[in-house]
Amino acid sequence: MKILNKVPKKFEKVLKNDNYKKNTKYSVTQLLKEPRAVVLESRYSDKVEYEIEDRLWSFFGTAFHNAMETEDFLKDNSSIIEERLKYSKVSGKFDHYDTETKTLYDFKFTSFWKLVYATEESMKDYQIQLSIYSWLLKQAGFEVENIANVLIFRDWKKTNADKVPKPYATVYHDVLTEIDGLSINKWIDNKIELFDKYMKVEDNQLPYCSEEFRWAEQDKFAVMKNKNKTATRVLETQEEAERYIKKIKDTKNKYWIQERKGNKFKRCEYCSIAQYCNQYKKGEK
Ligand code: SF4
Repeated sequence: MKILNKVPKKFEKVLKNDNYKKNTKYSVTQLLKEPRAVVLESRYSDKVEYEIEDRLWSFFGTAFHNAMETEDFLKDNSSIIEERLKYSKVSGKFDHYDTETKTLYDFKFTSFWKLVYATEESMKDYQIQLSIYSWLLKQAGFEVENIANVLIFRDWKKTNADKVPKPYATVYHDVLTEIDGLSINKWIDNKIELFDKYMKVEDNQLPYCSEEFRWAEQDKFAVMKNKNKTATRVLETQEEAERYIKKIKDTKNKYWIQERKGNKFKRCEYCSIAQYCNQYKKGEK
């Protein structure tokens, strides 16, 4: 047996190919991002050299959409698949709309942990994205009563069935009519105005991406006992850790606090233009 950590050249070309081209200045997905990411993407995405592993899951996403388009049972008058809709400088490409149930679907390949830890807040971006597609569809004359994400879990195994029973799930959301207190069209208009403004700004002058956007992890404070490798307790602040040690009243053992720095740039590790981002390169908060 001979194992090479590569694939034949022709496979590589197919796997790396990104055939999605938005036909407007911005995409709906970009509306959910912060100005720095959107502006740098517009400046550098053509220059980025992707590795197969960067594109693998989006390739499977595209392959899945293509399979849906070729399925005869979906090609009836009651469905619209892969339609692109436009408003102002924004276009959206949704996955599937069923006119019988008036349901708009978007597929996501993700980790099963996304469902295990699902909260209204953690699903907010998905809900906003679908609500914008829903608004765009309404402008085109279609009624949308339900919006849902079909999640396909790329890391699911049978041994995870106690947490998530199947390697797939459908998550329904309420359709939003407002985002951040604004009507959807006003919210989109504001985003376009903001992005347009920063398109004129030099890279180094762009506002930093926020902690929330970067999925920044908080620092933690581990209470350690003697030379033990595992923490007795991990707490959110230094003060909590100090209080915890006082409360134990154990004078026979030595307790000490180990500061554990959270990764402040978790999302940046997946950001396609990270190599062009001075905030990421300098590690600035
Ligand atoms: S690398 Fe990080 S900080 Fe830079 S644009 Fe991307 S998400 Fe924002």
